[in-house]
Amino acid sequence: MARTGVKRTGWIGRIFFADLLAGLRLTLGYMLSKTVTHHYPDFEKWVPYQRHRGHHFMNTNEKGEVNCVACGLCSTICPCDCITVIPFETDDGDRRPKVFDIDLARCLYCGLCEDACPADAIKLGQEYEVSTTDRSTLKVHLDDLIAAPRKSETGGVVKPAKLDVAGNQHSILQPGTSSGHDWWSRIRRQ
Ligand code: SF4
Ligand code: SF4
Repeated sequence: MARTGVKRTGWIGRIFFADLLAGLRLTLGYMLSKTVTHHYPDFEKWVPYQRHRGHHFMNTNEKGEVNCVACGLCSTICPCDCITVIPFETDDGDRRPKVFDIDLARCLYCGLCEDACPADAIKLGQEYEVSTTDRSTLKVHLDDLIAAPRKSETGGVVKPAKLDVAGNQHSILQPGTSSGHDWWSRIRRQ
């Protein structure tokens, strides 16, 4: 029984090697089409779509204070128990986090912490380069979260980048470069 969508070649096609010619035509088409190689991480980096859930970041207000009010909702809802929040009270009587740690080794990037936050404080950003050989570096603190990359305004493109060989081995987007190109448009469609 033929599988759905599979065309069977008739006897005339078999005599004239229709399948072989169709295969060669496909190969030739790919040989002559634009390259789709993504030069990551040395020269290019994929900037994910806005909906991507990557490394968390912490929002701050115009005074530079974190938005977090240390309510602990994110920590409570987290299914992996990977957020630690310890509150303190400022001189102004505001409640802020003294400790805010996330263990990224346990995190499954579900986004529940972001959804639960009533203060627009904890967010999941665009950064996805979190792999490491040192597990202890995956525990990120408040300062790391404040400094972490935000969401990109223009996601879904490939932008010029450079591998930080001397530092953390991450591919870093080049400042002031183009808006990037749509990598998917380079894929040859049938
Ligand atoms: S993304 Fe999910 S697993 Fe990760 S810290 Fe937030 S709630 Fe926990
Ligand atoms: S990040 Fe949001 S949910 Fe988590 S403790 Fe701070 S204010 Fe509460």
